[in-house]
Amino acid sequence: MITKTSEKTSNNFATNTPVKVAVGMGDGIGPEIMKATLKILKAAGAAIEPEFIELGEKVYLAGNTSGIDSHAWDVINKNKVILKAPITTPQGKGFKSMNVTLRKSLGLFANVRPVTALHPFVPTNFPNMDVVIIRENEEDLYAGIEHRQTQDVYQCLKLITRPGCERIIRYAFEYAKAFDRKKVTCMVKDNIMKITDGLFHKVFDEIALDYPHIKSETQIIDIGSARLAAKPNDYDVIVTANLYGDIISDIAAEIAGSVGMCGSANIGKNVAMFEAIHGSAPDIAGKGIANPSGLLNAAIAMLAHIGQAEIADNVKNALLATLEKGYHTADIYQKDSSLALVNTQEFADKVIENLGEMPQNLRRSTLSTGKGTITIPDYIRKKEKKHLVGVDVFIDWDGKDPNILGDALTQLNSYRLKLKMITNRGVKVYPEGLKETYCTDHWRCRFVGVDVKIENKEPQYAQIEFEQVVALLSKLYNEQFDVIKTENLYTFNGERSFSLGQGE
Ligand code: NAD
Repeated sequence: MITKTSEKTSNNFATNTPVKVAVGMGDGIGPEIMKATLKILKAAGAAIEPEFIELGEKVYLAGNTSGIDSHAWDVINKNKVILKAPITTPQGKGFKSMNVTLRKSLGLFANVRPVTALHPFVPTNFPNMDVVIIRENEEDLYAGIEHRQTQDVYQCLKLITRPGCERIIRYAFEYAKAFDRKKVTCMVKDNIMKITDGLFHKVFDEIALDYPHIKSETQIIDIGSARLAAKPNDYDVIVTANLYGDIISDIAAEIAGSVGMCGSANIGKNVAMFEAIHGSAPDIAGKGIANPSGLLNAAIAMLAHIGQAEIADNVKNALLATLEKGYHTADIYQKDSSLALVNTQEFADKVIENLGEMPQNLRRSTLSTGKGTITIPDYIRKKEKKHLVGVDVFIDWDGKDPNILGDALTQLNSYRLKLKMITNRGVKVYPEGLKETYCTDHWRCRFVGVDVKIENKEPQYAQIEFEQVVALLSKLYNEQFDVIKTENLYTFNGERSFSLGQGE
């Protein structure tokens, strides 16, 4: 679990005065599990002062499409720590994901999800599983920049930034160092996305050099996910981009048997938010039978974050002892091995009864032995030489023969820019495409300055002026080509910074 993770610029929490925490009771089972969690924290002597905020369904239905009202923002900005029960996102268009809004608005760049097996109390095929997934939380395909570009083609922009990569990867290594973890595995798909995932991999290799005592490795996300599902014991800390992290953290929680038991931390430089990973479970809401362990685990991470790691250990050990003794809520109850089926409040009371006890079989919580504070240095932007060397012009055209389009574009008087190639869905179709390639109405037409191709070497791209691009676009417009967007082609410090078309 997260501990002592006050970031360089985060709050310093005094341990003797109660820390004010913004608490969202949530929807569905949210209020039931939050009441149980707060009762346990109070009994354990956690020095926190909840300030309740309205989040979720009620706010959505009152007409606020973000699910958060202005009072809640004020409390969050003041307190910097949020403990949040799951909320219900109403079905239908127009409602924004409140979680995504909170993560992005508050700069919660790291999603930290520890997944530990609780076998045999929570059955799993992997009794020794103990993995922490650190997922980048703000970028990637979750930037939310999507467009329909032609009648047939839709696009989602994947944004990966150097500061984003540096922050999350540094965080993963610092986490491993603080919690005495031995290995950090980076998962990417840079055999395909050589520029975006390639950057993540490159930054990982750079930062790994600063941690010679921590083993580092990189795996392609597809085989990495498969291996994680088959041999989770081979993993320790995993760091990855937003979408991959979203998927593998659910795989990990599922194979540990503990989707209902996991908590997660969303960490930013100034604010941190703690929540269970499950949703508001409308099917059992109001029955008082939900398992509060996921939210309690999130609260334990929160206590460690605000400098109350000893209390966090006490609560965690009491939770483990309760599970070991066989007091189980319906979701994990097993007739043969459980001692008693308990409801939410009875479970909370059992945890309170067990405060001060240690688990006998499950591994004890050792958050208070975490070494030091995680500090993420400020990003230093190095100046690079950027040169414009061409432009990809995207054209909406419902013809089928790329040669007709290619020949027409080649014949344009294009201001010292020449058509280099045309691709359709990334595959080169002109010049010399294959007639088997299926073409849609979305054509990427690459114009470059004069390039010199040397045998077996990258082409050398000549620098061009933006004026040439403007003139080309004007010409295309006059010739009635339907230009839907352009993407400039640059070199940075002489290095090509755009992908080649497949087959180019
Ligand atoms: P869910 O996680 O709420 O429920 C899936 C299944 O798990 C249900 O059968 C439920 O009864 C069970 N379950 C979940 N938590 C449990 C617990 N603590 N104890 C016992 N059983 C539990 O997923 P869903 O049904 O897909 O989503 C319901 C709502 O929650 C949706 O509106 C969704 O948008 C929202 N949601 C919110 C969050 C969040 O606020 N962080 C996360 C996921 C889903």
